[in-house]
Amino acid sequence: MRPYEFAAPRSLREALDRAGDGSAYLAGGTTLVDLMKLEVLTPSRVLDINRLPLHGITLDDQGLHIGALERMSDVTEHPLVRERYPVISRALDLSASQQLRNMASMGGNLLQRTRCGYFRDVSTPCNRREPGSGCAALDGVNRHHAILGTSDSCAATHPSDVAVALVALDTVLHLHGPEGARTVPLDTFYRLPGDTPHIENRLRPNELVTGFTVPPLGWATRSTYLKIRDRQSYDFALASAAVALHLRGGHIVAARVAAGGVGTRPWRLTGVEAALADRPATPATYQSATAHAADGARTLSGNAFKPELLRRTLVRALTSLGDAR
Ligand SMILES: Cc1cc2nc3c(=O)[nH]c(=O)nc-3n(C[C@H](O)[C@H](O)[C@H](O)COP(=O)(O)OP(=O)(O)OC[C@H]3O[C@@H](n4cnc5c(N)ncnc54)[C@H](O)[C@@H]3O)c2cc1C
Ligand code: SF4
Repeated sequence: MRPYEFAAPRSLREALDRAGDGSAYLAGGTTLVDLMKLEVLTPSRVLDINRLPLHGITLDDQGLHIGALERMSDVTEHPLVRERYPVISRALDLSASQQLRNMASMGGNLLQRTRCGYFRDVSTPCNRREPGSGCAALDGVNRHHAILGTSDSCAATHPSDVAVALVALDTVLHLHGPEGARTVPLDTFYRLPGDTPHIENRLRPNELVTGFTVPPLGWATRSTYLKIRDRQSYDFALASAAVALHLRGGHIVAARVAAGGVGTRPWRLTGVEAALADRPATPATYQSATAHAADGARTLSGNAFKPELLRRTLVRALTSLGDAR
């Protein structure tokens, strides 16, 4: 690991004043410290933000508010989250391990970097780590890689599970930077790789994530997250589905659907949502509504199974929420 300056600011103002070229914010450190040890990230200054007042899990008329420094384990265990938004607690329960969830923050989770093995190996070409160097994954080991939103420059999946649930719920991110506070819908926060995969999101230089708000959605009580992975102990998704169903008398009034493990960012499936609305809540509906979920997919040598896996994952998740046969 390279030498770096360290500071632990006590206020948002102090954090922003100390931030600059080459600085990095440290929350739980479960991504940042790993990448520093591998010399994938080499910040000259690390700003520990854990003393900042970015906590709180509250519910009001505007929805559910969660501070960026809330630990994943505290959010998943919170009764309000479990009762009102089970899709969030389920996605967190299936993320990483208990030890990691105790340490890792919600803000850090949303900003974690890709798990593409080549990104983490500085001896290989990777456009995301070193712009213009090439992409070792396109003709390499790519079982875990994306099939939606990829480009000739990068096909890395977005690794966060809870981001998939939050995108399905229309979550709004709260940011604070040198120019003040602003909000951005989480769905548009993440960028497609295009030919600049190293620019992953719309965060401005030195801007902090202070928290996020999940808008009210009464019927999110009927929601879940299904994650398919190679091993059950802990692993990243090969495919996952965040779904919520508004049912009335065996009929679907409305649906929310997003997928993980298949896209270069959390992948909202509005076409599937539209195809589910006003239809009977039956497996036949789920089959037909998800038939085109992977349209436009571009598979690689190792992940041709993903379009079918995505469709099956969606059908299983939807069936688990409502089957009016
Ligand atoms: C073995 C292992 C398995 C894992 N499995 C999963 C999994 O199955 N699913 C899943 O979703 N995740 C998984 N993860 C990832 C884990 O959830 C993330 O490492 C964690 O959530 C990051 O949070 P952190 O607080 O530790 O972030 P840090 O490591 O402190 O920071 C991560 C990044 O975000 C930036 N950052 C942090 N907070 C802020 C903020 N408030 N504002 C601006 N920038 C900020 C940092 O500068 C850094 O770039 C796994 C991690 C490991 C090591
Ligand atoms: S898929 Fe993306 S992250 Fe992985 S090697 Fe290629 S450019 Fe790098």
